[in-house]
Amino acid sequence: VLFNKYQELKGNIRVMCRVRPVLGSPDDPVADLDYPDDKTSAQICVKGPEEKNSLGRITTKTFPFEFDRVFNPQIANEEIFGEISQLVQSALDGYNVCIFCYGQTGSGKTYTMSSPDGMIPRATKMIYDTVHQLKEKSWSYTMEGNFIEVYNEELHDLLTPTKDQKKLEIRHDEARRTTTVLNCKSVLLDSENTVELMLNEAEKNRSVAATKSNERSSRSHSVFTLKLIGENAATHERCEGTLNLVDLAGSERLKSSGAEGDRMKETQNINTSLKSLGDVIEALGAGQKHIPYRNSKLTYLLRNSLGGNSKTLMFVMVSPLEAHLNETLSSLRFATKVS
Ligand code: ADP
Ligand code: MG
Repeated sequence: VLFNKYQELKGNIRVMCRVRPVLGSPDDPVADLDYPDDKTSAQICVKGPEEKNSLGRITTKTFPFEFDRVFNPQIANEEIFGEISQLVQSALDGYNVCIFCYGQTGSGKTYTMSSPDGMIPRATKMIYDTVHQLKEKSWSYTMEGNFIEVYNEELHDLLTPTKDQKKLEIRHDEARRTTTVLNCKSVLLDSENTVELMLNEAEKNRSVAATKSNERSSRSHSVFTLKLIGENAATHERCEGTLNLVDLAGSERLKSSGAEGDRMKETQNINTSLKSLGDVIEALGAGQKHIPYRNSKLTYLLRNSLGGNSKTLMFVMVSPLEAHLNETLSSLRFATKVS
């Protein structure tokens, strides 16, 4: 609803912000020992909207920022999905849609995107339901999913075990504005539970691939892509849309000073690819002619879903804690630049 309301006013790029709750505090059911800052310095210095008429405002210790929408810590995944469901639906109308989660490690990207009640399962379920309803209007759809990890400027197929991986190659069809990744496994999503199987498979391959899977996933981007091809038996209309749900690498300023060798290269690659994503979105928003898609694997992969007949939503995730203020400010600045 929100998306369409702003549609005519503001082009095709939206930015929303989500403030996560403090974890493991006595009145918080989520006790998580992995987040020691939350226990020791539970001082809050970042606040979402405090009144109905300031739904896009986030206040920090230094100064406020404005986005299309800001979600307070108590807002659940369900409500957030309600705000973006129209955007997800538009992939069925033939749009290429990209939704990103940006933020430092521990800010809630994966919780928002791929937890069991997060965006991937909710989006897929809603699309199933809609496809079912559209049958009455003679539309039939095929849905295909793939799941790719971009790590160190290389693509990996999360649906194929590491030992069977082949080199993935990106192919763009300029005329149809579609993208195919050669050697990448696509799964035909023909029943609701195939998505769950697919997410489990990705999780399994991810943890086999890395000893510290958490660490690796915070240093790589994961891109879930749903291809939707519809045909109308009565009118012979056809439409092809794509939904990309992207959980980005942690945006924390990684100090390259102490890092050496592989770690240093990895750090530089993360910084470069997040920056180039920002540059691409900024260039699109400014209506520039030349869009620098080629500067990173991620933007090159998503080229046909960024710009042209496409819609982009950037979620910037932040922690409310004083201890994380510097990272929060840097995330909010990034988000301001692309909005
Ligand atoms: P990221 O993917 O950005 O590194 P996670 O999504 O893994 O961060 O979140 C870090 C921790 O915070 C996890 O334990 C997660 O369950 C919890 N968390 C994040 N956001 C929320 C939220 N809105 N409500 C409850 N718990 C959350
Ligand atoms: Mg994560």
